Amino acid sequence: MDAACDAEVVVVGAGPTGLMLAGELRLAGVEALVLDRLTEPTTESRGLGFTPRTMEVFAQRGLAGRFDELDAPLQTATRGHFGGLPLDFGVFPEAHPAVMNLPQVHTETMLRGWVAELGCDIRRGHEVVGLEDTGESVQLQVEGPEGPLLLRTRYVVGCDGGRSTVRGLAGFDFPGTPATLELFLADVRGCGIRPRFIGEWLPGGVAMSAPIGDGVDRVVVCERDTPPGRRTEPPEFSEVAAGWQRLTGEDISHGEALWVSAFGDATRLATEYRRGRVLLAGDAAHVHLPAGGLGMNTGIQDAFNLGWKLAAVVRGRAPGTLLDTYHDERHAVGRRLLGNTRAQGLLFLGGTEMQPLRDVLGELTEHEVVHRHLAGMVSGLEIRYPMGPGDHPLLGLRMPDLELVGETGTTTVFPLLRTGRGLLLDLGDDESVRRSGRPWADRVDVVTAKAAAGAGSTGPRVDAVLVRPDGHVAWAAPGGDEGPADALGRWFGPPAAEAA
Ligand SMILES: Cc1cc2nc3c(=O)[nH]c(=O)nc-3n(C[C@H](O)[C@H](O)[C@H](O)COP(=O)(O)OP(=O)(O)OC[C@H]3O[C@@H](n4cnc5c(N)ncnc54)[C@H](O)[C@@H]3O)c2cc1C
Repeated sequence: MDAACDAEVVVVGAGPTGLMLAGELRLAGVEALVLDRLTEPTTESRGLGFTPRTMEVFAQRGLAGRFDELDAPLQTATRGHFGGLPLDFGVFPEAHPAVMNLPQVHTETMLRGWVAELGCDIRRGHEVVGLEDTGESVQLQVEGPEGPLLLRTRYVVGCDGGRSTVRGLAGFDFPGTPATLELFLADVRGCGIRPRFIGEWLPGGVAMSAPIGDGVDRVVVCERDTPPGRRTEPPEFSEVAAGWQRLTGEDISHGEALWVSAFGDATRLATEYRRGRVLLAGDAAHVHLPAGGLGMNTGIQDAFNLGWKLAAVVRGRAPGTLLDTYHDERHAVGRRLLGNTRAQGLLFLGGTEMQPLRDVLGELTEHEVVHRHLAGMVSGLEIRYPMGPGDHPLLGLRMPDLELVGETGTTTVFPLLRTGRGLLLDLGDDESVRRSGRPWADRVDVVTAKAAAGAGSTGPRVDAVLVRPDGHVAWAAPGGDEGPADALGRWFGPPAAEAA
């Protein structure tokens, strides 16, 4: 590390995005320092669970099992919804299931444990208040527990949430639309109501409720025509209970409120995800209505896309332009996310005038191609990045967790990705594929195996595949006639001898 730098990368924000990114950077051997202005982790339950793709991301790093150690067993689900229209993730038979009703605090605790094991320093009570990108490095002004301090680093990533300070200090544009309505949320113990997982349409709006453990229910009150408040403080529970009663006729005011909050449908997207040595990820780059629970998921996947690229650039193995692919790939995902959550908001929060549209869309979802399209959108399983030449159907998509038979027995693809390195998987016993991978052996594992009987039978034939550390297919055969060398160079930098 440059002796004048306090850390190779400073990650601002220890929410799910910042923690995932810090873990990915440490896994690749980068000195990452995480700063968070909160002196203690938040206890707000927020995002309840994750999508199939986030579950796969955790499975790829061997993290899914850690929830059991936290006494937070995962309640899996094979169903989701689009603006209240039910969807079955079974249209992706090789996908991992979604997880529901798991408060975000557990996800953050799990990630903090992983990051701590990887030796990452999280400095709490440290608020970033100033930033200067000199072109050579970035200088941060930080208010710490012992007073102001200056930190120097090679790259800064703002994972500091929807009101991101980093975004403002580095001059990112954040256009979009302000909130047009105000919704309430409360976690309430002992209110004794029935679950309404994807919401119940009622004359005054929509009521949602879900049990989140320990006798606590999450209630969400979506009354129509509620202009956004200009609050600086959360609402009183009495306001939430009154709204719930207006909608449902039920009295929950006797319950014990553990967390009460208001939120809206403000929708904004940073025009750039990278400005020089400063990058944005998670809510810092995109805010939207939490329809379908996609916010935390998108942040974790931003981090998963960025971590290995930033590590390769910091380690000098890949040119800085690799970071531009982070913008290209994830900004496109962010744009789609905003369209998706806007559409879900209209369907979900609209009144009776929206019913004909719901009916028509409901009919359309009975067609498999539509069902798959929408399920792919809300599950994150259909994200396809532009990878370059080739026409294999998996190119750019996430690699499914196929069952494999190798020299040492059976396994699946995901455990082979646990190290955060690339993977060149030779499934057709092809020496030329293995030979192509050897010059990148310091960054890419070359593994020979066979697909287990019946594995992948619902998907396309795969003879060989190059998988990036984020699980996306960078090259595949048949259909990649030139071999994997070009793709190896594009995503992993020049081969070792050339780099030396
Ligand atoms: C009511 C509600 C329900 C939601 N439900 C879901 C759901 O079901 N599923 C889902 O996926 N998402 C959901 N979300 C969204 C989800 O909570 C967010 O998308 C997620 O927390 C974003 O993670 P992040 O790490 O990007 O930002 P945050 O979690 O906001 O973390 C940012 C961190 O940065 C720190 N920070 C801020 N400024 C500074 C600074 N200047 N210096 C140092 N540190 C700083 C903060 O203290 C914080 O710890 C919900 C959100 C809300 C409000």
